Amino acid sequence: MKIIDTHAHIGTSRNTGVTITEDELMGVMHKNSVDAALVMPQPVGYEESCLVHKRIYELSKKNPGMIYGISCVDPWTDEDKFIYETTRCIEEYGFKALKINCHGHNVSPLSALCEKSYKIALRYGLPIVVHTGLGTPVSLPSLVMKPATDYPEIIFILAHAGFALYCDEAMVAASLCKNIILEPSWCQTFMAAQMIKNIGSDRVIMGSDHLTNLPMEILKYHCINITDAEREAVFYVNPKRIFHLDI
Ligand SMILES: [Zn+2]
Repeated sequence: MKIIDTHAHIGTSRNTGVTITEDELMGVMHKNSVDAALVMPQPVGYEESCLVHKRIYELSKKNPGMIYGISCVDPWTDEDKFIYETTRCIEEYGFKALKINCHGHNVSPLSALCEKSYKIALRYGLPIVVHTGLGTPVSLPSLVMKPATDYPEIIFILAHAGFALYCDEAMVAASLCKNIILEPSWCQTFMAAQMIKNIGSDRVIMGSDHLTNLPMEILKYHCINITDAEREAVFYVNPKRIFHLDI
């Protein structure tokens, strides 16, 4: 069964100070038999995000079919610069999604600052990953319901699906907005099981968020009572469909 990790990072986080290198990421993927990963910068400033995007692109060229990029530019960046870099990620680097890091960049999905991300996602038909959980109130899962309703053509992925504390709220958001997908990294095993049961195995995807968390997130779906077909949907079928991956 193929496995896609939909939430990986390289670079150094200005919030946590954690650094992840290309070699560390590839090493952990090999060790855990992960076939592909969607990789994004940590929450950083504009200049650094541009550098990390380029590193992700170079890594994807070296490892075709294994590494796919997600752009993450600070929404507080000047609109021209934001659009330039995000468009470059999509057109030149072939990135597969945009990320809004509500916590890391201190921005609410309701903010006018996020409109430029929604417009670009709409234009290119790409999904948007939105951080949820830690860092409330801007990271409350329910806030994503407004853009998900305003832009029904865009798929919104709730990264961390409420981060354990707000899992129920993430499930409410997903139950009311069919274009919301749940990625329950850091959530309890029984909550991940409830998401699959209540929202559907076609709308849950696996993400690790951190290298040492990857084996735990894979194991999570082996500890809960789901079928092999549901497991394969979470690990492979859904990410391939949602991010338009060619693997
Ligand atoms: Zn993350």
